[in-house]
Amino acid sequence: MVAPRDGKENFECVFCSKSKKDGLKLIGGNGVYVCEECIRNSFALLQKISDEDEKRTTRSILKPADIKRALDEYVIGQERAKRILSVAVYSHFRRIEAMDPNANARNSIPKLDPYHAIELQKSNILLIGPTGTGKTLLAQTLAKLLHVPFAIADSTTLTEAGYVGEDVENILLRLLQNAAYDVKRAEKGIVYIDEIDKISRKTDGPSITRDVSGEGVQQALLKILEGTTAAIPPQGGRKHPQQEYIQLNTTNILFICGGAFEGLDKIIEQRIGKKTLGFGAELKKKEEKRAYQLLKHLQPEDLIRYGLIPELVGRLPAIASLEDLDEEALINILTLPKNAIVKQYKKMFAIEGVELFFTPEALREVANVSLTRGSGARGLRSTLEEILLDVMYDLPEDKTLKQCVVDLPSVQKKRAPLLIREKELKESA
Ligand code: ADP
Repeated sequence: MVAPRDGKENFECVFCSKSKKDGLKLIGGNGVYVCEECIRNSFALLQKISDEDEKRTTRSILKPADIKRALDEYVIGQERAKRILSVAVYSHFRRIEAMDPNANARNSIPKLDPYHAIELQKSNILLIGPTGTGKTLLAQTLAKLLHVPFAIADSTTLTEAGYVGEDVENILLRLLQNAAYDVKRAEKGIVYIDEIDKISRKTDGPSITRDVSGEGVQQALLKILEGTTAAIPPQGGRKHPQQEYIQLNTTNILFICGGAFEGLDKIIEQRIGKKTLGFGAELKKKEEKRAYQLLKHLQPEDLIRYGLIPELVGRLPAIASLEDLDEEALINILTLPKNAIVKQYKKMFAIEGVELFFTPEALREVANVSLTRGSGARGLRSTLEEILLDVMYDLPEDKTLKQCVVDLPSVQKKRAPLLIREKELKESA
């Protein structure tokens, strides 16, 4: 409590010690006084904090079209998958907001709507598609544009608690680490669980003996997908009774599961019968296109027949399938995305003062090498790396080099990329 200095009217501001003598109005209560200047400053500070909060809230509820547009900058093709994801992610954040009593009033769903008693169920997402088609990239890009922490886990390393392998809680530990141990932020993060198809149970019907690799892991995953308060050992590894755990609520974490689900198309085909689809002869020839078309008819029961437990399928209501990437898509992946591989290489060369060029034939050939390897866009970077390795080895020391051209023969490994030096440039000018 601040006592009047001279025992009369001259009270001091508790923040800055200025008084009425300084020509300021003081506002007080319970023997404590604050001057008008400090009140104004505090008000401005509060305003700034609330503006920032609002900006954050507005950002987290990007509309589906905004999300899709942002995904377009990084992910080539997969139009339908991007639309499904955009809607699912928008609904996810709307749901969190609608259930948060402190949500920003302007952006939140009115609490007095006729549906206020209806609980919005969390909709985690399942991505089905061949390897290297952009499943991980989609999940990763979403996390980046929503500014939320992100973690990737591989289902095949998981086991149910008590068996050799990784506990499901370790996925959450990774998310927590990526959120710099900020529990509140981690609780709104995104987790990508890869190869979910590899933990399908091998037999129809409940197994008599415990199925370590399949059903048990699905049960463990189910708990965190549904929403639970998980106890996470901060150092990772196995749980033991003496350890202190971090409590993490998974209710608002968005889980995106991905898998190739090889053979799923056959299950769908068996169910609906070949004839009902009425494919043209041309489509029949193209195996990949056929599989993608069939996936459009996917029903939850097909996933259960594949070996996912019904409860887990029930927790993955948003399902998107990804297409195989063709030659044109692969060329676009090389050159178009914001951080396209070709742009990255050009930048690396530019740092060393060298211009890097690719002829259109060379790019087409790089795409074709990847196509024959059958690993989608995964092979693109390694193909370019092989071609450019030797040039990059010499690059930092080769001060006379000005341009490097990757043409068809160099991709076909008939010879090295073309190197153009300062002298040659001057001569041709
Ligand atoms: P998946 O998870 O489907 O196996 P990834 O998302 O990990 O495949 O893709 C591997 C790499 O290939 C990515 O890092 C990205 O560079 C590239 N890639 C794959 N699909 C696409 C796509 N549709 N658009 C742009 N890049 C892609």
